[in-house]
Amino acid sequence: MPTDEKICPQMDSCEMYAIFRNSGVLGTWKALFCQATFENCARYKLVRLGRSVAPNLMPNGVLLRPTRKTSP
Ligand code: SF4
Repeated sequence: MPTDEKICPQMDSCEMYAIFRNSGVLGTWKALFCQATFENCARYKLVRLGRSVAPNLMPNGVLLRPTRKTSP
């Protein structure tokens, strides 16, 4: 269990959680950033600078491309 000081203060409001709510990928991001080295998170850094954060910006700085819906 991580200590409180290693938990990102943005966890309750981070939009990334809505994107990965039902995905195992969220657990990986949490283990690598949110509950570990959140100071290195690209999203966290922008928040600290008072900048807007794209919902699809991943903690490692990669922008996720929107998925296209295919026709049936
Ligand atoms: S993705 Fe980044 S900003 Fe969001 S909770 Fe995790 S460490 Fe914090």
